[in-house]
Parts: sequence; C-alpha cells; structure tokens
Amino acid sequence: MNDPFSIGRRGLMLVLSSPSGAGKTTISREILANDDNIEMSVSMTTRPPRRGEVDGKDYNFTDMESFNLMVNRREFLEYAKVFDNYYGTPSGPVLDVLASGRDILFDIDWQGTQQLAEKAGDDLVSIFILPPSMMDLEHRLKTRAQDSAEVVARRMAKASDEVTHYAEYDYIIVNYDIADSVAKVSAILMAERLRRERQVGLGEFVKGLRQGR
Ligand code: 5GP
Repeated sequence: MNDPFSIGRRGLMLVLSSPSGAGKTTISREILANDDNIEMSVSMTTRPPRRGEVDGKDYNFTDMESFNLMVNRREFLEYAKVFDNYYGTPSGPVLDVLASGRDILFDIDWQGTQQLAEKAGDDLVSIFILPPSMMDLEHRLKTRAQDSAEVVARRMAKASDEVTHYAEYDYIIVNYDIADSVAKVSAILMAERLRRERQVGLGEFVKGLRQGR
C-alpha cells in the first residue's frame, strides 16, 4: 500500500490538545472562521452528545458496536479511550483534505497525537494549550455547564496528568486570553505554511528569477 503521507507537499496537520476546558474548542472555532484554507477533522465518539452539540458537526456520535467495526476495518487514523468513552479520527476525510492541498485541524488528546506523529511525521504540527491556573480550568468547566459536578471533578483530576504531556508538543500556549491565543495559533499556522519544505516548485521559481523573469 502507498504511504499516503509521502506524496510531495500536501496540507499540514495541525493538532490542538489541552485538558478539557482549557479553551481549545473556542480557539479552533475562531481559527476555522477566519481561515478558508483549514478544515476541522470531525471525530467519531461513543460519548453521548452534550446539550447544544450537533451530530456531524461537533462529532459523529456513534455506539460501541459501530466504533469497534471501524477499528476492525482500520478506518481510523488514530483512536483512543478518553475518560470512559472512545474517540477516533476517521482517515477518509483527512486524506481528502490533505490531497486537496488544504490543512486540517485536529482537536484530539495526547494519545491520538502520538499516533498521528508516527504516521504523519513532519506533516504534523502540534500545539498544547495550558490553562493559566487549575482554578481557571475548574471555573471554565463549571461555567460551561454542560457536565455534571461528578464529570467536572473527574476531568479536573485527569487534567493534572494531562498537562504533563506538554513536552511532547512543538508549541505551547498558555491561554490567558482567547483572542491572544487565537492570534498565536494563526501565527504558528502562517509560519509553518512558509516552511521551505512545505512549498513545492521553489527550485523552478528561483530558476526563473535567475533567468531574468
Ligand atoms: P470531550 O468529551 O470534552 O469533547 O473530549 C474529551 C477529550 O477527547 C478532549 O481532550 C479531546 O481533545 C479528545 N478527543 C476528541 N476527539 C478525539 C479523537 O478523535 N481522538 C483522540 N485521541 N482524542 C479525541
């Protein structure tokens, strides 16, 4: 089988990870709204929808049986168990976006990022978002009012493990302010798109310059 990630320059894969509640969903939405060259990877999950979440947009909600079927058919680029539920990135849509020369944004955890890093190599750019403080994180989880007190408590307990994974990421942003963090993610995206190895046809371009074009 051909390695789908070794074909010339394709779009890059931008991963945003953080403990739940650190603001990455809001940051992702802003990036997508302001940039036409990046699309969101919509994950499959066995988690039930939260209030306000839209099937097919926030996630593709599914059951354990269908999820397992996709695992067995190797239809996931990566998948992991997070809290009590399974989450996975279906390969098909990601490969379509990359083949069209556009970028793709992933909101996935550190386990998924490790799996993607193995598959995508240099095509992967990873950003870890840290909360300014644990108190701030708890406040955000409580005020988003989508989860029960028990779920919030479990997410807080997990956050302290999750933040230790910051060292596996290319870039770290402490989310003091959403607009400021969005600007930082945009700057990273712009710089990464300009990397020499991501631009095809540079040799020909420079040859043209030397010929007096
Ligand atoms: P939530 O239930 O709050 O939407 O997501 C819980 C965690 O699962 C978040 O850290 C989120 O980034 C992660 N997650 C969402 N989709 C995926 C996925 O497809 N793969 C992996 N590995 N993690 C995911």
